Amino acid sequence: MVDAVTAFLEKLGVAFALGVEIGEGTRASELLEEYDAVYTAGGAWATPSIGIEGEEHAVTGLGFLSSVRQGEPTAPGDRVLVIGGGNVAVDAAVTAKRLGAGHVLMACLESREEMPALDSEVRHALDEGIGLLTSFGPSRLLVSGDEVTGAELVACTSVFDEGGGFAPSFDRTRQRTVECDAVILAVGQRPDGSLLEPGIETLGGRVAVDPPPQATRMEGIFAGGDAVSGPATVVEAIAAGRRAARGVDAFLGTGAPRAARPSRLLNRFGEGALEPSGREEVEPRPPEARTRHEGDTGGLDAGQVLAEANRCFNCGCVAVSPSDLAPVLTALEARVITGKRTIPAEAFFAASPLSSTVLDPGELVSGVFIPDHEDLRTSYMKFRIRNAIDFPVASVAVALAMDGNVVRKARIVLGAAAPVPLRAREAERVLEGSEPGGTGAAEAAEAALKGALPLERNAYKINVFQALVKRAITEALVQPANPIQGGKP
Ligand SMILES: Cc1cc2nc3c(=O)[nH]c(=O)nc-3n(C[C@H](O)[C@H](O)[C@H](O)COP(=O)(O)OP(=O)(O)OC[C@H]3O[C@@H](n4cnc5c(N)ncnc54)[C@H](O)[C@@H]3O)c2cc1C
Repeated sequence: MVDAVTAFLEKLGVAFALGVEIGEGTRASELLEEYDAVYTAGGAWATPSIGIEGEEHAVTGLGFLSSVRQGEPTAPGDRVLVIGGGNVAVDAAVTAKRLGAGHVLMACLESREEMPALDSEVRHALDEGIGLLTSFGPSRLLVSGDEVTGAELVACTSVFDEGGGFAPSFDRTRQRTVECDAVILAVGQRPDGSLLEPGIETLGGRVAVDPPPQATRMEGIFAGGDAVSGPATVVEAIAAGRRAARGVDAFLGTGAPRAARPSRLLNRFGEGALEPSGREEVEPRPPEARTRHEGDTGGLDAGQVLAEANRCFNCGCVAVSPSDLAPVLTALEARVITGKRTIPAEAFFAASPLSSTVLDPGELVSGVFIPDHEDLRTSYMKFRIRNAIDFPVASVAVALAMDGNVVRKARIVLGAAAPVPLRAREAERVLEGSEPGGTGAAEAAEAALKGALPLERNAYKINVFQALVKRAITEALVQPANPIQGGKP
């Protein structure tokens, strides 16, 4: 999977330099001599010490998981105490159990509701017979010789102060002793600071940035992921990367302004689609069927897939791109209406490669407005390999406004040629003001593809598009005039 993704990125022109450490030897700021902008995402890999007696006899959560991954798949003991309530603690507990530990107990400062681990992960661990002791923290590890024999824990009465900062307080009169032969300490990670510049501001060890551009105080240096947020999730790290990509784009002056139109509420779709909806949950596999090598959950059933699909109301999503609607609505000069504003279809479907939507969070599409057109000739054609597959390999939408036999205005839009619908403006220019009988459609098709640069394996699409554009124009011209009665705003 990683090979496939990196190979794809390399084809896009990304170069990877492996085994390179940034820090004392090479500072991130030194990279600015060679690069116009630098993005750092060093993660959170340092394990803090909690300063209790016997701590040096514990293994760290990350150390344990790394050693298992690197070929030491043995449980650290038969009775294992995992200290911590985050995702790393849960992973360590589940891994120790699946490697054959007889009894695994997780102990954490937080109450069940406060635990930082994903709730579903905790539930899966409990299903597998892992014990959970909440609102207790370790006061010392019990050691005999070099061997851990247990741990003393004290009750934690609150974890956070009034400002939400980490400030645990304890009731030392309530104690517990847990017997065990291994302790895994998974008490959080923090950025190790190796990627930090002296000039970059930090907040409690984390890199301070201006969201959304993810810019640090040092010009040209951007940062994101766990190093900024503290330990979080993959999807949050990816989101930070996207915000930073836009921030870098704007910094380098390559960003295009986004379209914004005054808000106007017009036609509405069904009410249900206007409410944000909840996602379907996947069913976990039964505990006895789980292994270290497969996912802990199955997939969605057919009904759930349908429900999820129904939630996706914006079927012009550019992440998929081969929508039929996108080129057609662009050709018809449609406007997409949301709860906040009206966006020309061309701008609506033209989200940049860095963002899959022009909508703001929570902004829903409520209508599509197609303006009135007199004497409009239209056609839509798509080429696909099998009829059973709806996605076009190539598609063309044509809308020609006529004055008699002369094309007054032409809109020719190519679908599935790029992540967004592409106006074939050269072809439109060839047609406008002409009487395109005879070779007109062929000349326009030639112009539509002039200068096209296909990706290596898509070169065949040039011929497909040329044929489609020619046929779609010819088809539109032989259609009877097709007045479109748009809805009244
Ligand atoms: C055990 C465990 C379980 C987790 N489970 C989940 C889960 O189930 N779901 C989920 O969404 N998230 C989970 N997470 C969190 C998730 O892995 C992180 O939030 C995410 O990987 C953060 O991405 P990042 O790009 O910020 O950092 P990382 O993915 O940590 O990448 C940091 C990169 O920076 C490099 N680096 C660090 N310092 C330097 C340096 N000085 N010079 C050069 N390179 C450097 C590192 O080698 C690494 O390649 C888990 C994390 C752990 C540790």
